[in-house]
Amino acid sequence: MRELFAIFGDPVSHSKSPLMHNCAFKALKYDACYTRYHLSDGSRLREKFFELDLAGANITVPHKEEAFRACDELDEFALKVGSVNTIVKRDGKLYGYNTDATGFLKSIEEFKDFKKILILGAGGTSKALSVILRDNGYEVEILNRSQARLTPFIALGFKTYSFDTFSMTNFDIIINTTSAGLSDNSLPVPLNILTLLFDKAVICIDIIYGKETPFLKLAKEAKKITKDGSDMLLHQGIKAFEHFTQYRFDSQEIHDAMKKAFILS
Ligand code: NDP
Repeated sequence: MRELFAIFGDPVSHSKSPLMHNCAFKALKYDACYTRYHLSDGSRLREKFFELDLAGANITVPHKEEAFRACDELDEFALKVGSVNTIVKRDGKLYGYNTDATGFLKSIEEFKDFKKILILGAGGTSKALSVILRDNGYEVEILNRSQARLTPFIALGFKTYSFDTFSMTNFDIIINTTSAGLSDNSLPVPLNILTLLFDKAVICIDIIYGKETPFLKLAKEAKKITKDGSDMLLHQGIKAFEHFTQYRFDSQEIHDAMKKAFILS
């Protein structure tokens, strides 16, 4: 029977995941279809998942922490970071994974010998990225607009700042994990702070994809090395696909099939 998958988010219309997964299902002759679902109330995720009779799902902004709560079983990393972007149904139970973190790590393999990272934002994706980067030897600090969301990061032992308490040290890499710039033209941090950061940073990464955000535009103007979220998207998608199809395909084959989605639009 044909399996149905979906991505939940708000907004979700920008998501390239349906195209990526459908390209891979087609190329690998896997009988499934992937769609998108605009979900405003994240607390209804589990109910909607069952109502739509999904085999699996991805979860994007701002529901990754709700997705964590919606699962019956969690893998070790998702449990550690409290953020889930991939759900698979098995025997009526929801299994939660986080493929953002490994996807991001894979996407920055090209950058060698950089150690000090400042992450902008303290949402679900920031949590996953900050933990995996620290586990892999990077020094990571977090800067977020609101103080409230920094509490779990403080509990995890990270040095954190809100806009009011920020003090500058030298960072090699700045990563924007906020949704500022996704569906508006706002900057993730005030311009005066950004100017200080650009003074020292070598690389600026925005995990938003499919558009040049104001953050990346300014970084380019400041002659920084820049990167958007397309490679992260691809690599987290490959991992999610492996979970959806229970590792029956070679990851290079999935990669080649999903890559087509980036040519199509
Ligand atoms: P969350 O909703 O969990 O977190 C959003 C964060 O952004 C919060 O820290 C919030 O700060 C901050 N924020 C939102 N708007 C602004 C603003 N105008 N100015 C400053 N800070 C702001 O989102 P996610 O972690 O799920 O996703 C974040 C982004 O990452 C999204 O744009 C998403 O599309 C992208 N993403 C890309 C992926 C890829 O594969 N390339 C994968 C995963 C995510 P506050 O606490 O103050 O509200």
